[in-house]
Amino acid sequence: MLELAIIGGGPAGLSAGLYATRGGLKEVVMFEKGMPGGQITSSSEMENYPGVAEVKSGFDFMMPWQEQCFRFGLKHEMAEVVRVKRKENHFVVVLSNQKEVEAKSVIVATGGSPKRSGVKGEDVYWGKGVSSCATCDGFFYKNKEVAVLGGGDTAVEESIYLAKICSKVTLIHRRNAFRASPVTLERAKNEAKIEFLTPYGIEEICGNDSGVTGLKLKNLEEETIKEIKVDGIFVLIGFNVNNSVLMQEDGSAICATNEYGQAIVNLKMETNIPGLFVAGDLRIDAPKQVVCAAADGATAALGAIEYIEHHK
Ligand SMILES: Cc1cc2nc3c(=O)[nH]c(=O)nc-3n(C[C@H](O)[C@H](O)[C@H](O)COP(=O)(O)OP(=O)(O)OC[C@H]3O[C@@H](n4cnc5c(N)ncnc54)[C@H](O)[C@@H]3O)c2cc1C
Repeated sequence: MLELAIIGGGPAGLSAGLYATRGGLKEVVMFEKGMPGGQITSSSEMENYPGVAEVKSGFDFMMPWQEQCFRFGLKHEMAEVVRVKRKENHFVVVLSNQKEVEAKSVIVATGGSPKRSGVKGEDVYWGKGVSSCATCDGFFYKNKEVAVLGGGDTAVEESIYLAKICSKVTLIHRRNAFRASPVTLERAKNEAKIEFLTPYGIEEICGNDSGVTGLKLKNLEEETIKEIKVDGIFVLIGFNVNNSVLMQEDGSAICATNEYGQAIVNLKMETNIPGLFVAGDLRIDAPKQVVCAAADGATAALGAIEYIEHHK
């Protein structure tokens, strides 16, 4: 039986692997369905990890993480996990190839991915002017004009954040009413640099070899088209968490989750099931930043070491 199974090899899973193996656990396997590294490997520029002054692509940034973990004995199995189940006082990790692996403790770090709008030009300019994270990429648009697509708390809060950096923020939403909280909305309305465009949808994200140059927009009431010039567009319409491994055969989740399917954890990344930890973007209130996911992974690993020690 493994001492610890880690599911997911993004910043949270790799950091958990480092802390677990370096902390003395012997049989630790990280199950990752693709190449380790996680979402950030799709980013062309990563410049906000403390202590790493050099700007790197997400892929280059994540390469040494694996090397460091494997040096301390973390084993990597390239496999997709279907689910994690409870069996007596331990866990069973079920893989897509039908194999079942038993473990004393499990850290689930399967992350998630930002929702895409599917509008024309989005895939073409993704990472070249189209972004899903203002905290990550807002600084690249210092004193430039950007747009935000979305009507929830994230879209409105990130518009306020961007207004502190950019010269103008156009907030585009397909309805006149916003899902964002009234307090947040009021703050955005008081921000002179934010222009609200409702009820508008994006027909096309336009650009050239250098990236995004503008948007073709449609007024959804009047059916009229207008074009605006922007240097970047932030698509903030939601986030899908990869929580399928938590789901049991009867459709229930192995641990408590909220209405968005995010795992409910405490400050030690413990779920309500002893020995089961969730770290990174899959947990409630995740800031969705590499540094935060890495910290979660370390915290979860320390918790797992303590749990295994007390359940010998
Ligand atoms: C385009 C882009 C740019 C970003 N830029 C920045 C930035 O500049 N700065 C910053 O701090 N953050 C940035 N982020 C956010 C950052 O990447 C995430 O917050 C971070 O990667 C979350 O780490 P994680 O380990 O929780 O999950 P993830 O990175 O999502 O990793 C989860 C891993 O689990 C694996 N997995 C999922 N399901 C299974 C399964 N069933 N079985 C096995 N493996 C599975 C996945 O393949 C993946 O490798 C960016 C994100 C994106 C998408």
